[in-house]
Amino acid sequence: MEGNGNIWHLKKHSNGEATLYLDVPGQTQNTLGRPVLDGFEAYLSELEKSPPEALFIRSRKKSGFMAGADIEELSGSSPEELKALIDQGHKALKRLEALPCPTVAVIHGTCLGGGLEVALACDHRVADMGASFGFPEVQLGLHPGLGGTERFPKLVEPATALQFMLTGKTINAKKAKQIGLLRDAVPDRHLDAAAVAAAKTGKKKKDRGFIDGVKHTLEMSSPGKRLIASRARKEAGKRFDKEDYPAPFALIDLFEHETGSDDAFEAEARSFVDLSQTQTSKNLINLFLRREALKREARRPEGHGISHVHVIGAGTMGADIAMWSAMNGFTVTLQDIDNKVIAKAMGRAHDWMDGKTDRSDDIRDPLDRLIPDPKGDGVRMADLVIEAGPEKAEIKQKIYDGLMGELKPGAIIATNTSSIRLETLAEGLPPERTGHFVGLHFFNPVTKMPLVEIVSGETTSQETRDRALAFIEAIDKLPLPVKSAPGFLVNRILTPYLLKAVDLIDEGHKPEEVDAAAEAFGMQQGPVEVADTVGLDICLEVGRVLARELDHIGEPPERLVRKVEAGDLGKKTGKGFYVWEDGKPKKEDVETPASDLEDIQERLLAPLYEEVRRVLDEGIVASEDHLDLGAVFGSGFAPFRGGPCTTLRQKETPSQEAETPDTSSPAEPTEV
Ligand code: NAD
Repeated sequence: MEGNGNIWHLKKHSNGEATLYLDVPGQTQNTLGRPVLDGFEAYLSELEKSPPEALFIRSRKKSGFMAGADIEELSGSSPEELKALIDQGHKALKRLEALPCPTVAVIHGTCLGGGLEVALACDHRVADMGASFGFPEVQLGLHPGLGGTERFPKLVEPATALQFMLTGKTINAKKAKQIGLLRDAVPDRHLDAAAVAAAKTGKKKKDRGFIDGVKHTLEMSSPGKRLIASRARKEAGKRFDKEDYPAPFALIDLFEHETGSDDAFEAEARSFVDLSQTQTSKNLINLFLRREALKREARRPEGHGISHVHVIGAGTMGADIAMWSAMNGFTVTLQDIDNKVIAKAMGRAHDWMDGKTDRSDDIRDPLDRLIPDPKGDGVRMADLVIEAGPEKAEIKQKIYDGLMGELKPGAIIATNTSSIRLETLAEGLPPERTGHFVGLHFFNPVTKMPLVEIVSGETTSQETRDRALAFIEAIDKLPLPVKSAPGFLVNRILTPYLLKAVDLIDEGHKPEEVDAAAEAFGMQQGPVEVADTVGLDICLEVGRVLARELDHIGEPPERLVRKVEAGDLGKKTGKGFYVWEDGKPKKEDVETPASDLEDIQERLLAPLYEEVRRVLDEGIVASEDHLDLGAVFGSGFAPFRGGPCTTLRQKETPSQEAETPDTSSPAEPTEV
């Protein structure tokens, strides 16, 4: 039987078993919303009437099982509508759980949030090795809402379950099997067999060994849960301010107090709805939706026409840009004038990929695609050349000269410059090449920073810009179009704020106080720590560029100049404003009165807001939405505030409500 709005498809097999396929039309990923639930309930009625021998639930989408709730629907619902939707979801999953036949979630690709909760309501879960699992709700200021808070701690070690829901991190199939979430994790070709084998074991809950069973019962007892909750609360308290991020604390409360009755589902639903009404959740959801929109805008039906990327300069940035591109399916040749640097880059790529995955065959292909190329033979094949040479216009221009005569017509030349004007760099290019010249400003560290600024100079063609946007989206980064201007967007708004932090130290404030003030505002790292991490030499250089090019910005503070002259460059030399040990700054405990912190906050943020206004006036970014995304994902601006423009709007009209939010880990602020 097919039908049901073409969302679900039930296939009855000749042996009496059945498979229910999910395939939400018009979407690349299945998301869980009202029509999906309605369709599911209709099939449940049929399955209850004539139960199959076993029921398999799987997705027909290439992308995976289910990506989670339909965030757009969620954000557009009133609290009452949301509560009704969650109640409907709870009821449906309880009916699934109560079917008399064994039920098996057969999972490939992405299985997140609500999708994972559907899988948890099945008797068994099997997955192919490429599947990934997670509860990203906390990143939206929420927690699981379809019984996950109740079912997951019962299935696996309770502390692990709580931790998993609190971090919002994604795990692979191997790890999911290790923690007991999956019955089996197998190569794709064995998935059907694993599903059938799971169904044959019948309708059962987890069969724990005696010791494991006793341990689990103790941990799920009231004193056991209290202990786990109190540890988790302490940890969460170190990472989050309860007022700014209430979701982790609400989740811990649920875990501690709920005891497996219908009340637990009701409490979960109520807590979810309450959280959804907080400004934090609204801002985070809004950010999520805007981010998704930006990614959508970047995709082109005709594609980007890039398959071979040639990277010149295998230093800090080039090495990681090359590796990241290879990881994401591109053939990459990596060139440097120094062979040792290339060798080091290859070693680093291997180590990083190796640490990223549990299976060596996962890294064989990307490593094969990453080709050391000391002579630059790859230029002739390249559709995109990314130059990541030293930040000197003469060197970069010389590199471009060397490309001419080799490069295919139509190939894009991109620079990773952080401060040199594109127009200056393009000066020596032949006229037929200037349209193909664009800035791709990756941030450091490339593996962690989600944002890439796509910089259009005066000559950059629309086609080049669009292909560059699509390429960056294809390598799973967030592509933000910006106009060529000093500091582009992120460094322009971040640097005056970092330099103000140095001014405040000049006035006698301790670096710890300045950082504490920014962190109390919600910045992911204080500005002094950011400056030390980025490198004080780089901050000074960018500060000088901005001062030279923009009349309203003064020269960087003398204290910064002296630090750089003394060779105290921050983390990389072990000393900057802080002394660094084992990659961490040594900070003194300081007690600063709240009023002083507020005063520092205001003074720190004033230059940032000032640049925000100017950047918008100058049209460096297309909209306030773009600016907010750049600030949060490129500079670590407090995500729960939704970005500087949202913060300013909400300051002006405090009752104003954000429209809707996004996931994915916001940026750690470690770049200029
Ligand atoms: P880096 O010094 O680590 O690497 C530059 C590499 O270029 C070196 O390995 C050098 O051997 C090589 N090189 C020099 N001349 C060359 C030539 N003619 N042909 C081929 N290779 C050559 O520098 P980096 O930090 O990786 O920065 C690279 C670019 O990225 C710069 O434009 C910088 O402004 C920009 N950037 C840096 C950061 C950062 O935090 N490091 C962040 C964003 C952007």
